[in-house]
Amino acid sequence: MSKRLPIEIYPYRLIEQRRILNGRLNLKPLSRLQELTHHSDGYVTVEMTFGRTDTGLPMISSSLSGSVPLLCQRCMHTVDHVFNKTWQLILVNSDAEAALLSTDDEAWIVEDDKIFIQDFIEDELLLSLPVVAKHKQCDVDAAAQRASFKPETPQRARKTETKNPFASLKKIFEDK
Ligand SMILES: [Zn+2]
Repeated sequence: MSKRLPIEIYPYRLIEQRRILNGRLNLKPLSRLQELTHHSDGYVTVEMTFGRTDTGLPMISSSLSGSVPLLCQRCMHTVDHVFNKTWQLILVNSDAEAALLSTDDEAWIVEDDKIFIQDFIEDELLLSLPVVAKHKQCDVDAAAQRASFKPETPQRARKTETKNPFASLKKIFEDK
């Protein structure tokens, strides 16, 4: 079983050390996520790699996997939303510094030289939630469909010419 992540980290120190942190994060204390989900008491697995971009900017490259239960807006039953994502954030110290980055780069504003991992991960989890949670196919939908099942009128067989791959070969033999 993987270990728990630390509560807070000093990212610039970890960048100098080129560290990789991994572990799991309990979802229960993530209050913003809890508001939007349906009893999330599981964990997500996180890996954070500390380093610098090609141009020397301090950055954290992260990946996370796990799932949270959401309420399906169609059948009102639980639907698991699976996370499996990687992302990269450039560390800056102010909004002004973030504004200087290229539009492709996303920034994380570091306050007092530290990052609360919970906030860092929760922000990304919130960004990844679907606007409307839905099963691909709800069980109740399937049940309702079965109840009202009527055999469809068979589609008229389409008259596409079936190509016999040997037809041309046959012709060659016939020509001989
Ligand atoms: Zn559903």
